[in-house]
Amino acid sequence: MAEIKKVAVIGSGVMGGAIAAHVANAGIPVVLLDVAAKEGDRSAIAKGAIDRLLKTDPAPFMHNKNARLITPGNLDDDLNLLADVDWIVEAIVERLDIKHALYEKLEKARKPGSIVSSNTSTIPLDKLVEGRSAEFQRDFVITHFFNPPRYMRLLELVVGKKTSPDVAKTIEKFCDVNLGKGVVHCHDTPGFIANRIGTFWIQQAINSAMDLGLTVEEADAVSGRPMGIPKTGVFGLVDLVGLDLMPHISASLLSTLPPKDAYRDIARDVPLFKKLIESGYTGRKGKGGFYRLD
Ligand code: NAD
Repeated sequence: MAEIKKVAVIGSGVMGGAIAAHVANAGIPVVLLDVAAKEGDRSAIAKGAIDRLLKTDPAPFMHNKNARLITPGNLDDDLNLLADVDWIVEAIVERLDIKHALYEKLEKARKPGSIVSSNTSTIPLDKLVEGRSAEFQRDFVITHFFNPPRYMRLLELVVGKKTSPDVAKTIEKFCDVNLGKGVVHCHDTPGFIANRIGTFWIQQAINSAMDLGLTVEEADAVSGRPMGIPKTGVFGLVDLVGLDLMPHISASLLSTLPPKDAYRDIARDVPLFKKLIESGYTGRKGKGGFYRLD
């Protein structure tokens, strides 16, 4: 079984940055790459993510000094940083076309035999690896972390038809022993287990709140603690996840779920979401969302 001594995370947003922090908490060096910033320091996006993590509550780092284990970079200039990486975690936007374009780059840049995984919330593995080489498919799995990654114990693991058993074993052991996760094997179905149920619940709760004219606070009071979500409810959860992720999740599920899936009956556009996203209110990662940060 291969040993994982160095990790890269690609995408330094809500999940990527926090996954990098959690790997650093395990004492493992991490490369954190994002798209190149248009002006000034081209690695500013990944660097900014580390700065934000140091101020986030609850703390993603066990000790602030763990941030030193993270090397930030950008995907245009720093692909060479992947040359000695044993596991690459992809945590970029939830769009199949964008993930495909990244994997094409990774085919050439990754160390031969290194493991590649996606943190996708909904996209089946079979679709992610479409068009990729036999070697890439052999080394590929889905590792679906939950938000916030330092605190949520669940990790959904999806192993593809062509994934090597050794890759599956290596990643399962690393996530269990080094990252302290409770690894649950999932079938390669849209939304896997948690999001197949969770997305349905979120959509239905939002629909009901809108139809009944509930305030955000009223909706969260009935959808939070009584449903086992401490401290918040459906709208607070959407703020944590990121409002802009929700339409991508919905589009992804609608393009992959079976024709008669019940989610199709309740999925609907919420104009308020569009308005908030367009004004920068993408949730905690932006200017706030349904709850303001100031
Ligand atoms: P995010 O929007 O916060 O961050 C995405 C990052 O990807 C950004 O930093 C962005 O600059 C980068 N990016 C955009 N286009 C890119 C490209 N072409 N190449 C490389 N990087 C690019 O997103 P997120 O919420 O962290 O979600 C990332 C992944 O994790 C998605 O697949 C999502 O479904 C999944 N996920 C999210 C959550 C959550 O709670 N937000 C939970 C579990 C899984």
